[in-house]
Amino acid sequence: MKIHIDIDCFFVSAARILDPSLEGKPVAIGGRSDTKIFDAHAKNQSVNVENTGNFVPTFFKTYEAKDDDLDAFRDANGRITGILTTSSYEARRYGVKTAMSISQALALCPRLIIKAPNMSFYQQLSHRLHKFLSLRVPLIEQASIDEFYGDLSGWVAEDEVEWFIDNLRHEIKKELQLPVSIGAARTRYIAKTATSHAKPFGCKTVFPHQEDAFLEPIKVEDFAGIGKSMLAKLKSAQIHTLGELKRRRGTVASWGPYAQELYKRVAGLSDDPINTCHKRKSIGISRTFAPLFDRGELRRRVHILARHLSFAILKLEVIPTTFHLNLGYEMSQKSHKNVTLCEIFTEKKFDALCISLLNEADIYKRLHVIRIGITCSHFTRDSKRELSLIGFKEEQSMRRLSEQTHKVREKYGLDSLKWGSEL
Ligand SMILES: [Mg+2]
Repeated sequence: MKIHIDIDCFFVSAARILDPSLEGKPVAIGGRSDTKIFDAHAKNQSVNVENTGNFVPTFFKTYEAKDDDLDAFRDANGRITGILTTSSYEARRYGVKTAMSISQALALCPRLIIKAPNMSFYQQLSHRLHKFLSLRVPLIEQASIDEFYGDLSGWVAEDEVEWFIDNLRHEIKKELQLPVSIGAARTRYIAKTATSHAKPFGCKTVFPHQEDAFLEPIKVEDFAGIGKSMLAKLKSAQIHTLGELKRRRGTVASWGPYAQELYKRVAGLSDDPINTCHKRKSIGISRTFAPLFDRGELRRRVHILARHLSFAILKLEVIPTTFHLNLGYEMSQKSHKNVTLCEIFTEKKFDALCISLLNEADIYKRLHVIRIGITCSHFTRDSKRELSLIGFKEEQSMRRLSEQTHKVREKYGLDSLKWGSEL
């Protein structure tokens, strides 16, 4: 059988490890787009190059102990900004939810304790859990920072699965102090559905002969992978539960390949093997900020983002060949440009490339910009053979400059060396 393991309100559980007095109280973790990166005196930026799913930002501010409370979310005018990334089950009883604004959550639950995020600690815990699971289950796949899939076939007999996962749950609590919920079923998709059913701190095994009865009453919105538009389609077809969905194969199949795949997942006809090694395919950085019209300032911010991303790319020791820049404007306008280049990666060249992508992408010159994102992908590692040989020597000396710069930043921090263009 396949199993799905999910840490209960992970960031809150992590905060409770550091501060056990938070146990049993309504607690939430705030988050916001870190625009302090653009301050001329920016410091304390960290980079995370581990690949634990999309939820963990690559770049984040490390908070000091003193701003580990609501003050971390006050803007220059003293207003509380930011959204919640996680809330404890005690807070959820008041209607507090993920992605809700902090001020809205405080209105619903005035006793709510808001904590600042601690990304590097989450990283550590996630790695510790991954390591621990790899010793207990032969095939383990990390799906996100707090979610894992495992395959027990040939390892644990079907009639012992219930005992096995319940024991595993208690072991994880004892060894790592993390509360997890675990679901087990024939396919990964049904196992994941079982986990949500078991939360918090529970286990649920759905044996093959129980699948129909288990899925029958579950609301379609509780099945992973059903987005807003699919949900609207299902509702308009009077499909509200997974049981109803399973009986309407013809209707759903007529909606195209994605709907067909969804049907198969619900019906247990589709499954993916456990993939134990996830390779990073891209790396990016983006920031959302207050509407900005000044194009000079916009360029300065692109220089800063390029410097951060360049640091991570050199740290990963990959050579990206596709570069993508996107802009978000007011009034939901968007624009993007990308380019493919097979050359040695250097910071200076990357910086110039980002600026030229910005010039091309910025097509709504009369609008304020609210977001910049830069992504690099299609990595190659073999620089000499695959990359262009034109100007190779020159590129190598540029590369050496990049490497020297990188060493200084490794030692003294990402903000220790900046380009004149940023100031
Ligand atoms: Mg979770």
